Amino acid sequence: MNETVRPRIAASACPHDCPSTCALEVEVFDRHTIGRVRGAADNAYTARVICAKVARYAERAHHPDRLLRPLRRLGPKGSGEFAPIGWDDALDLVAEHFMRAERAHGAEAVWPYYYAGTMGLVMRDGINRLRHAKKYSGFFSSICVNPAWTGFIAGTGKLAGSDPREMAKSDLVVIWGTNAVNTQVNVMTHATRARKERGAKIVAVDVYMNATMRQADLPVLIRPGTDGALACAIMHCLFRDRRADWGYLERYTDAPHELAAHVRTRGPEWAARITGCPVETIEAFAKLVGENKRAYFRLGYGFSRSRNGAVNMHAASCIAAVTGAWRLEGGGAFHNNGAIFHFDNSLIDGTDVLDRSVRMLDQSRIGAILTGETDALRGGPPVTALLIQNTNPVSVAPDQETVKRGFAREDLFVCVHEQFMTDTAKVADIVLPATMFVEHDDVYQAGGSQYILLGPKLIEPPGECRSNHDVICALARRLGAVHPAFDMTPREIIDGTLRKSGWGTLAELEANRWIDCQPDFATAHYLGGFAYPDGKFRFKPDWPKVPFPRARGAGPCPPMPALPDHWEVIEEADGEHPFRLATSPARGFLNSSFTETPTSLARERRPEVMIHPDDAAPLAVTDGEEVMLGNRRGAVRIRARLFEGVRRGVLIAESLWPNSAYADGRGINTLTGADSVAPFGGAAFHDNKVWLRKLPA
Ligand code: SF4
Repeated sequence: MNETVRPRIAASACPHDCPSTCALEVEVFDRHTIGRVRGAADNAYTARVICAKVARYAERAHHPDRLLRPLRRLGPKGSGEFAPIGWDDALDLVAEHFMRAERAHGAEAVWPYYYAGTMGLVMRDGINRLRHAKKYSGFFSSICVNPAWTGFIAGTGKLAGSDPREMAKSDLVVIWGTNAVNTQVNVMTHATRARKERGAKIVAVDVYMNATMRQADLPVLIRPGTDGALACAIMHCLFRDRRADWGYLERYTDAPHELAAHVRTRGPEWAARITGCPVETIEAFAKLVGENKRAYFRLGYGFSRSRNGAVNMHAASCIAAVTGAWRLEGGGAFHNNGAIFHFDNSLIDGTDVLDRSVRMLDQSRIGAILTGETDALRGGPPVTALLIQNTNPVSVAPDQETVKRGFAREDLFVCVHEQFMTDTAKVADIVLPATMFVEHDDVYQAGGSQYILLGPKLIEPPGECRSNHDVICALARRLGAVHPAFDMTPREIIDGTLRKSGWGTLAELEANRWIDCQPDFATAHYLGGFAYPDGKFRFKPDWPKVPFPRARGAGPCPPMPALPDHWEVIEEADGEHPFRLATSPARGFLNSSFTETPTSLARERRPEVMIHPDDAAPLAVTDGEEVMLGNRRGAVRIRARLFEGVRRGVLIAESLWPNSAYADGRGINTLTGADSVAPFGGAAFHDNKVWLRKLPA
């Protein structure tokens, strides 16, 4: 008789680049096997709900295509021809190439490059310790958060806001510029609870009728990059209709009279011309905001990935200050909680050995850097050696053709430490197999909630996979890099970091599974004043001086609008490029992760671009037909999907498919630009002018 094996249930945390950082319960069958993954019911933010892709994590952890052994390139660069190599030989080769690069051009010729393939602090950020100890080129981490964080901090002075769980206590939840159903499902948990229990309304603002917009009571469909105009029109209506809280404005804000005068000429008709959204919808949105003071503005990342993204984020964040929504539980604004965790990063990042004179290279400009553009190199030596962990720049970085040209350089040595043979691993010289989150110990800090969570090692790694920490320490020994944390285990580093940061000990975290770091109500709602010295929310931020903690490495700040506005710096459509393209996240993928799991692939089917039927008709483009999308940066072959849920002139390509999923190997980032977003860098992934053509018969 078959016996059913009952798994044990182990606590963990989702490691993926998603604001929710869900508390997980993982079925563990034996030392090598996990089963179903569920959301922890007793975590107040996760509240039992997680996304489908992580619920089926066993598909990914036990995938037959996992990298299991170190590999060394045999054939020409990018040929995909590799042969197995032992760990010691592989690490010796990497160290030899790094030392050769250093001897030839100085330490800045080596560039450790990483991002958020895991959000675990030890495994994600430990590469910085090696960088700092060796004075390798700095990493200006610009690709994701900079415009969004800067825009939010511009108003409040600090990256924190109302408790995200308060959404459930709101009368109006505004989900702005984030397709939460696809990318952070927990926002929907709390927003729909408010609707069910309090009759709250949900407004969603986005550039296509995605799953979140379809669940909203009022979907506000706008053109990409026009959120600032929409926000100004909402504030115009609030002042016009005497819904502004002047008592709050006088006490808590810097320039309310200037703002009121400024938006007087920026009403719904003005905004309708810019956004493409009907006047009636803008008026209906403003009425809901005016009549429901207990309004919660949940501001996402998507709408900040535009050349005017920081200005748009700031403009949207201003609305809660006009109505005084911050005063009430269930009211105010929230984007990310980065400022509440106050971690001491010295053990993980080696900040205690950081030399601030070392140049910072902009992650988003990796193409320009690897192809030797002088300004991108900040006047320093060429990059001739790369160590890459937790990211896949040949797929995810903007200006892909330039990135590919850079990686094709014969004098560039590339080591990629990865879980799968990604587009970047394919062009490496050495590929090292990496562990997944259930195979190593780490600690996680949420962005979209207020938890610190532990993700302990639950099973043994498959094959010869090693953790990021192991690889960094092994390289440090070979390279003569000195720091106490190179001789510590991940658990020792976690314990030491928690203690140094005032968050207790590893044993306590292990017993409690997470730490709720939520500040008290008055602090979270800035009732004692906002985080500027005068306590005032800034309608008129001094952009170059916005206290964004990661600004080091940014170039000069151009002149920016003094007050909230539609800043006309986007790649506006023109005669040659009649469409605006946004590359929004697909539900089954998370950046380029999960593009290997069968269920996600079956769900997403193939790369497609959504086009309004009235735009397709004059081009004689039919549903499902293969078309070319292009601009001055390159061209992509992709299937058209006729879809009425976009404004005319707008195209949406849900991403991020591997380059190999496209007929000619050119991924969607062939079309995105790497020019820096003001004021502190960033990539404008949703701000592209393009043409669309039928393929020749
Ligand atoms: S919703 Fe986000 S944090 Fe939660 S399990 Fe899915 S990817 Fe992870």
